[in-house]
Amino acid sequence: TRTIWVLGNWKQNLLREPAAQLAEAVAAGLPGALGGVTGVRAGIAPTYLALDRVAPHTGDGVAAPRLLAQDVAAQDSGAFTGEVGPAMLREAHVSAAIIGHSERRAQFGDTDELVARKLASALAGGLDVVLCVGERLEQRDAGEHESVVISQLSAALAKLPPELEPSRVAVAYEPVWAIGTGRTATPEQASSMHAAIRAWLDAEGHRGADRSLLYGGSVKPTNATELLAAGDIDGFLVGGASLDPRSFLDIVTCAA
Ligand code: 13P
Repeated sequence: TRTIWVLGNWKQNLLREPAAQLAEAVAAGLPGALGGVTGVRAGIAPTYLALDRVAPHTGDGVAAPRLLAQDVAAQDSGAFTGEVGPAMLREAHVSAAIIGHSERRAQFGDTDELVARKLASALAGGLDVVLCVGERLEQRDAGEHESVVISQLSAALAKLPPELEPSRVAVAYEPVWAIGTGRTATPEQASSMHAAIRAWLDAEGHRGADRSLLYGGSVKPTNATELLAAGDIDGFLVGGASLDPRSFLDIVTCAA
């Protein structure tokens, strides 16, 4: 059975002190929100500069939130101004990185090619990965949503060196039109995309059945239960609602 993940992507929010307070509140409430369920795990992704303040509230145990980074460099170290590599993240107690978020793809030049290099860099550097994919509204309206998502997946995974078999990659389907808009994908839309992703992973030898597929895009305590009930959805990547500990923990409870 696949792990259900509820991950909070804090994006470019919170200075160090409020980040530490949010992490502390999440860590304190998590055992209660999980209610002893072990198949559900939580994680939080603060900004790089808050990692050291958040880290003491995280861990790899079942009832502690895992520490994630929002991105990772495509190279380990060297003359790459402004970049943060996987070894640096691991030293900061990060165990997984979000890669290919649509905000990075749209605004910071994260092309399919760069996403593939970041994925290889993260895996080679010992990080787990949450690989984000998702179509824009005009692509869905044109009926291209599945082909867009599969081509993003394929670009990221197809050229991975064989020694980096992507068993440590979870996929997050985040339709761009649902991010920060309050407009969630319907459970049917999310579930049918997840089924398509899983089928593609299986067909390509990436063991779709073993892989957690998360949904992201305006997830809230009020829609989490129906999304999970639709099937094929193994948890969430939460943006706005993860900045409030009660909302985030309530989403965890929906999953537990
Ligand atoms: P919202 O939950 O704010 O829509 O953001 C989703 C997201 O982009 C998570 O990575």
